[in-house]
Amino acid sequence: FFRRLRENLSKTREALTSEIQATLFDTLDEETWERLEEALIMADVGARTTAGVVGQLEQEATSGQVEGGPALQERLIELLAGIAKTGTDTIDLRHEPTVIMAVGVNGTGKTTTIGKLAWHLQRELGKTVLLGAADTFRAAAVEQLTRWAERAGCDIVTGPEGSDPGAVAFDAVAQGRERGVDVVIIDTAGRLHNQEDLMNELAKVRRVIGKQMPDAPHETLLTIDSTTGQNGVRQAKLFSEAVPVDGIVLTKLDGTAKGGIALAIAGELQIPVKLIGIGETLEDLRPFDADDFARALVA
Ligand code: GDP
Repeated sequence: FFRRLRENLSKTREALTSEIQATLFDTLDEETWERLEEALIMADVGARTTAGVVGQLEQEATSGQVEGGPALQERLIELLAGIAKTGTDTIDLRHEPTVIMAVGVNGTGKTTTIGKLAWHLQRELGKTVLLGAADTFRAAAVEQLTRWAERAGCDIVTGPEGSDPGAVAFDAVAQGRERGVDVVIIDTAGRLHNQEDLMNELAKVRRVIGKQMPDAPHETLLTIDSTTGQNGVRQAKLFSEAVPVDGIVLTKLDGTAKGGIALAIAGELQIPVKLIGIGETLEDLRPFDADDFARALVA
């Protein structure tokens, strides 16, 4: 998995290593910190998080706490990994059923992620999964999710086009309980007439799920497209103001030089990345590992 991740992050690595070569830390002066700062910002680590990391590293280096060269590079990796490790990086599947609410802007890979997740839960963890198609706003969304359910080999609860998304979510959780499935994954709208409508709807779907099962949803996952740069931080902020977001699924990491967005979101919003999407097929979902990620980014 580590090798695969490194391959997938190779673009990010190229972008960074062009700046962060081992020799960068041989001589330490103003230019060292400027170049490091620039490289991290280029990789989408975000201005605030970058400033924090570079400031800390500079302080430790100038006070003699850490030596230059490879030791400083290791310390940089440690600092970056530390930022990525915020909150819990796992998903608790011990509820009966565990209800996962999937949220995210259209096009970020939400539907694909639900398909991948359903497949992994069944295939690798032996769980039974039921999907709820609560994006009733777009007929195409229901069709698309239905196709993913077929591919993943799980059942899906749908409602008529334009029907109440909350009702579909409620029904899906109810059926999940009745049938004794392990995990219910609820899809939600990724775009409505306007942003406010969307956020209100997500909050409402969440409340309705809670009426069926008081402690649910147990996990709210937000998909963020890693190729959209700092937009991802804005989306994460917006969604987390509407519903408590427990984790990020960082998608399209196979085609980007911008993996640093994971650190920007973790650093600024304290929301952990839990899963990464590295392709368009069922198998292309991986757990996020902060240490491997930080190392792949700069080493
Ligand atoms: P949604 O509108 O958020 O539900 O997005 P979709 O799941 O329909 O995905 C939008 C596009 O992104 C599709 O063409 C997917 O195949 C593609 N996609 C989703 N996840 C990934 C990923 O991890 N890597 C790549 N390369 N493409 C992805």
